[in-house]
Amino acid sequence: MATNEYEGVLKKIEELTTNAGQIQDEVLGEILSRNAGTEYLRGFLHGQTEKQLFKKNVPIVTYEDLKPYIDRIANGETSDILLAEPITAFFLSSGTSGGQPKMTPVTAQVTKNCELFRRLYESPVIKHFGDINQAGKRMELMFARPEIETPSGLKAASVSTSIYNDSNFRTILPKLYTSPIETIFCPDPNQGLYCQLLFGLIQRDEVVTVGSLFASTVLRGVKFLENHWQELCYDIKTGRLSDWITDLGCRNAASLVMKPNPEQADLIENICNCKSWEGIIRKLWPKARYIGCVCTGVMRQYTAELEFYCRGLPLVSAFYACSEAICGINLEPLCKSCDVSYTFLPNMAYFEFIPVENEHDESIEMKRNDEDTELVDLVNVKAGQCYELVVTTCAGLYRYKVGDVLMLSGFYNNAPQFQFVERKNVILSVDQEKTSETDLSKAVTEAKALLDPLGFILTEYTSYVDTSSAPGHYVLFWEIKGKEGNHCKELDPKIMVECCSKMEESLHYTYKIYRKRNIIAAVEIRVVKQGSFEALMDYFVSKGTSLSQYKKPSCIKSEEALKILDSRVIGKYFSPKLPL
Ligand code: AMP
Repeated sequence: MATNEYEGVLKKIEELTTNAGQIQDEVLGEILSRNAGTEYLRGFLHGQTEKQLFKKNVPIVTYEDLKPYIDRIANGETSDILLAEPITAFFLSSGTSGGQPKMTPVTAQVTKNCELFRRLYESPVIKHFGDINQAGKRMELMFARPEIETPSGLKAASVSTSIYNDSNFRTILPKLYTSPIETIFCPDPNQGLYCQLLFGLIQRDEVVTVGSLFASTVLRGVKFLENHWQELCYDIKTGRLSDWITDLGCRNAASLVMKPNPEQADLIENICNCKSWEGIIRKLWPKARYIGCVCTGVMRQYTAELEFYCRGLPLVSAFYACSEAICGINLEPLCKSCDVSYTFLPNMAYFEFIPVENEHDESIEMKRNDEDTELVDLVNVKAGQCYELVVTTCAGLYRYKVGDVLMLSGFYNNAPQFQFVERKNVILSVDQEKTSETDLSKAVTEAKALLDPLGFILTEYTSYVDTSSAPGHYVLFWEIKGKEGNHCKELDPKIMVECCSKMEESLHYTYKIYRKRNIIAAVEIRVVKQGSFEALMDYFVSKGTSLSQYKKPSCIKSEEALKILDSRVIGKYFSPKLPL
């Protein structure tokens, strides 16, 4: 983006945020006037387009409610049963947090919005870090998945794959990114990753940012590098690609740029061959200005480890979006991950919010249903309040619950800024108690603090409810790593038992009551071998999840996924006493 272009985009952000209320009304008006005649909306609006009628009659839905319509279109019926604009393709959501991938319609308008969105979220980044597009290249880890063709002949792909397939992206790729297209589309993600790291290292003097869509993928890259740096250095030294890279596209791409470079290989070898990898990203890519990847929400758990590897380089979460809708951008890219707020863009969808009460607030006697709750408009949300996000889009989603809970942290002009709180549906429950992603994360944060002074980092965790014996209990899988290469075997079992107790003490009131009444048994932590969570990621990727959009489930629901972790357990610890 040229300097005057990004300044123009910053002005556009001012305009959008200042007129948020009016733009929201226009967005809804346009969606309704175009789509009121569709089979779906006709049933509720009878051809009318008034906002009040929409709010009164159109139900709040989940994917399951719209799925029959989407399936009909995928099977060959015309898209106007759901939306007036023709469907050009489908986005496949990653599906790791909620189970099966979901298909959402893509139209020409969606594609236009995506293009505008990229410019909107990049402008604040350019404002703070300078014009990275002019300064050098991005070392971004990107992974496409094969497209699926629906019976009607429409293509379905993850959002990231659709971006990588876009002709504009392919045109700018060689100039702005270190990864050739063949490495992004390599059917074997490990070969693709090896090659992307190789290309990133070969061009290390040009790299001005390092990143991926989500923090977990950047960490996956660093861990892969830990296991492969000697081989990568050998390839750079000799100018020959390792034999196990059999993908022809990758081999061709490599043959175009690789030549023996022993000096570069020695430099990289010296950097990697040190005991501590603290700051390794900064050392390997000395001109990098920041690490770009989403570090909020479920990705928060990776920030400590990522900060260790990038020592001092800012972590930038530039946007909040999902396959179903584009939502917000981060206007303060230098802000710490724990404080990041996303300013909502009123032109991207019509947004409504279901107030969410604190599950453990004893003053709330009766929970309200969504049907009884009045949804709040974008400009009427209240500071400090949590909300579940509901979107109405130009692509056939009407009052659709995204499944994310957000907290209003403030306003930029008249547009609200939200912090991401949690996925709504990730809940552990043995009896009547409900433990959310946030409850779990708080308890884990308290417990893992006991490991820090001993030189260990909790790198990954997930959970599930074990009901194989009565009463049931919460199980946490922890992958732990020594900061200076010290081994988990040296970890004192007493500390792990203390971590279990700390977890229980830090869980919510209802949990503790149930625990004291022996309705729930003691928390268990199962320590798993190094690489177990990589194996989990590999499993989900093998089942069709895009590596670029992978989000580790906070709670394991699949038997097979559970087996992967259980078969790698190296220690089991239980809380020895009741929580206070
Ligand atoms: P997908 O289904 O792959 O499109 O993933 C979309 C989901 O990823 C959202 O509904 C959120 O739960 C999560 N997500 C996306 N962006 C962010 C963000 N900036 N912070 C936290 N979570 C995010």
